[in-house]
Amino acid sequence: MKFVCIALIVFFSTYSQAQSRFDKVQITPHQITDHTYMLEGSGGNIGLYIGQNEVLIIDSQFAPLSDKIKAAIQRISDKPLKWLVNTHWHGDHTGGNANLSTEGLTIVGHKNVLHRLSHENKRMGQTVPPAPEAARTDVAFNDELTLNVSGYNVMIQHVENAHTDGDAFVLFVDDNVLHMGDCFFKGRFPFIDLSSNGSVEGYLKAVEVAMMMVNDETVIIPGHGALAGKKDLMDYHTMLTTVIERMKEAMKTTDILSDISTEEIVKGYEEWGRGFINSKRMVETLFKGLE
Ligand SMILES: [Zn+2]
Repeated sequence: MKFVCIALIVFFSTYSQAQSRFDKVQITPHQITDHTYMLEGSGGNIGLYIGQNEVLIIDSQFAPLSDKIKAAIQRISDKPLKWLVNTHWHGDHTGGNANLSTEGLTIVGHKNVLHRLSHENKRMGQTVPPAPEAARTDVAFNDELTLNVSGYNVMIQHVENAHTDGDAFVLFVDDNVLHMGDCFFKGRFPFIDLSSNGSVEGYLKAVEVAMMMVNDETVIIPGHGALAGKKDLMDYHTMLTTVIERMKEAMKTTDILSDISTEEIVKGYEEWGRGFINSKRMVETLFKGLE
């Protein structure tokens, strides 16, 4: 009984902390073109495509934010939400799936997103239970998929083993807007989820795929961070190639992580180690991912 009480206290205090954390979050729309927006809140950046008859949304952030997200969309358009595209399975991108899921909404994602949402997963040492049925992918694809949204093409392209094993880029072809999911953390070191079959080399390749998809006018929605352009993506690529090359060099002389100097690997990029992935975590990921 005592254990149950303690467990309940822990549960409710954790729950209320989570609630109050999300209570303060505002959903801020950033208009990109006539049809496209980025919604910023907490978790992965949301992309919106406002069609003549329907709305497409990319990613759904966390479940406690769903009502605010719906309200933000309604302030932009009264058209029904018809498509939800997930860039990958992580909870800060799919947590609101079930709440947004209504009759007539189709959830689209890579087949490994469907698989991971339907099974238990490990993430940063934590066990993540399967997502509820309503949150899971309705239409799963292998390599690419094109959606016709009120006559406009939305191209969805899988990139292999990068941030996870189910990443997708979403290109609003007619508007020249690209959502890169978590294959782009603007101005920060990336989280590369090796436990979801993400890969350091694959991550770099994914960034190179994106570089071939954009031009000087493309607006890029990163998974995290502010709206970006080609120059920001090139800077990100330079950072990645630099730290990867340094780590490869260092690993020629040792196979022990503690022998490798974090400062040397991230030199010149220290300010990219703000927040979630600090310099130490970045170096650990590079080491594990290149082993
Ligand atoms: Zn992610």
